[in-house]
Amino acid sequence: MEKLNIAIDGPAAAGKSTVARLVAKQLGFIYVDTGAMYRAVTWKALQSGISPERKEDLVQLASALRIELLPGEASQQVLLNGEDVTDFIRSVAVNQNVSAVAAIPEIRRLLVAKQQEMAKAKGVVMDGRDIGTHVMPDAELKIFLTASVKERAERRFLEMKAKHENVSLEQLEKEIAERDRMDEQREASPLVKAADAVLVDTSGMSIPQVADRILELAKSAEGKGIR
Ligand code: C5P
Repeated sequence: MEKLNIAIDGPAAAGKSTVARLVAKQLGFIYVDTGAMYRAVTWKALQSGISPERKEDLVQLASALRIELLPGEASQQVLLNGEDVTDFIRSVAVNQNVSAVAAIPEIRRLLVAKQQEMAKAKGVVMDGRDIGTHVMPDAELKIFLTASVKERAERRFLEMKAKHENVSLEQLEKEIAERDRMDEQREASPLVKAADAVLVDTSGMSIPQVADRILELAKSAEGKGIR
């Protein structure tokens, strides 16, 4: 398949990263999890004792960070100044603080520049919140993945249970709804469906079914030629 860029946006825990990774693997494209970049900055800020209100300190911290995303078997490996932080960036503390960090325009500018650099050579499947609207407005295919908060929380709950992580379904549902609210209401590139994105409601669909649907759409986007 010729190299296209595919943008996958949507609310928290909609299955974006799992699906994006599968689609990228099938097409031989590079997968970029942009949420991992915001999470890495947030983790480092928490480690350094910098709260999300200290915006200038956060921007200074973020501009000195080297974030590397490496393809891994189960998920993408995230290195921060050479240190493997893949597991650390999924902690409850990061979940609770990442949306505040991601709302800071200067932090977004820094990370978006890196993301656009990665997308330059085409053949990228990138997931996030503002990929179709800001990072890759010219992507040949844009998907907006969604499902009800209840279903998203249930899926995340089962994933965490399988990893023996102790969190209640109620707590997860609350946390996901709060993160969505902050991502949708922030001023800088809020979470919104791009006008030309295809809405895929994944309620009741399995991961392979969602991936197949996106692969089908990618084939027809290719047929229409690169814009
Ligand atoms: O995708 P994930 O849930 O890991 O993203 C974590 C957080 O990072 C989101 O809730 C959002 O606040 C932020 N984010 C963003 N823009 C992106 C990707 C993630 O603001 N492109």
